[in-house]
Amino acid sequence: MGKIVIAIDGQSGCGKSSTAKAVAKRLGYTYLDSGAMYRAVALYHLQNPFSLESDEEVKEALRHVNISFHQNPSTQIQETYLNGQNVEEAIRTMRVSKQVSAVAAVKQIREAMVAQQRKLGNDKGVVMDGRDIGSVVFPKAELKVYMTADLETRAKRRAEELSAAGAVIPLQEIKQNLAERDRLDSSRAESPLKKMPDAVEIDTSNLRFEDQVDLVVRLAKDKIGKVESYASNN
Ligand code: C5P
Repeated sequence: MGKIVIAIDGQSGCGKSSTAKAVAKRLGYTYLDSGAMYRAVALYHLQNPFSLESDEEVKEALRHVNISFHQNPSTQIQETYLNGQNVEEAIRTMRVSKQVSAVAAVKQIREAMVAQQRKLGNDKGVVMDGRDIGSVVFPKAELKVYMTADLETRAKRRAEELSAAGAVIPLQEIKQNLAERDRLDSSRAESPLKKMPDAVEIDTSNLRFEDQVDLVVRLAKDKIGKVESYASNN
């Protein structure tokens, strides 16, 4: 089967990661969580404070940040490692969520993450989710999806996820964090979140999870078919 790159961008908490993960599983593709990388840098910044305004300090900090993904053999889920330590849980806390958009707005940090993301997605057969995947990381991705959902729905889903992980956070605080991240992520100078003209927009507010996964898989199969027929005619 021909392999393509699938870029899923959109606002915080609209279900990009869970959809991307399920789509990758259905297609036998690799899933890459670009947000986890910015979260890992934000965690490093909380643990080892440095000035985000100083090019020198950012450069020095980046020399000490090594991010990798490894599959957990019992769950088959890719987990995030920072300097050899599993930080999959630590990067999902509200503390990190409140810090991450400021860290992700720094040009030098973005350049380092994008270079790594391109390397990781080099072989096609990849589903990557984030904010700038279709615009900057893989502008030639065969399938670009732009996901949205209303704020209330996103906050409720995120509250459920956090509570499943044992963290009970007031809905209002979650809503505020999602809205603030959307504001920062869409208004920053460096690769802001925006819908690309060639992206398919999917509003998941009233979609069942299985239906949104089915929809993306159908779109992907359509693109894979086109890639295959192009290859056989050339
Ligand atoms: O996807 P997730 O919500 O985990 O991403 C956390 C944060 O990382 C986003 O709010 C955004 O600030 C940043 N991010 C980004 N570009 C990406 C992925 C995430 O700026 N490609």
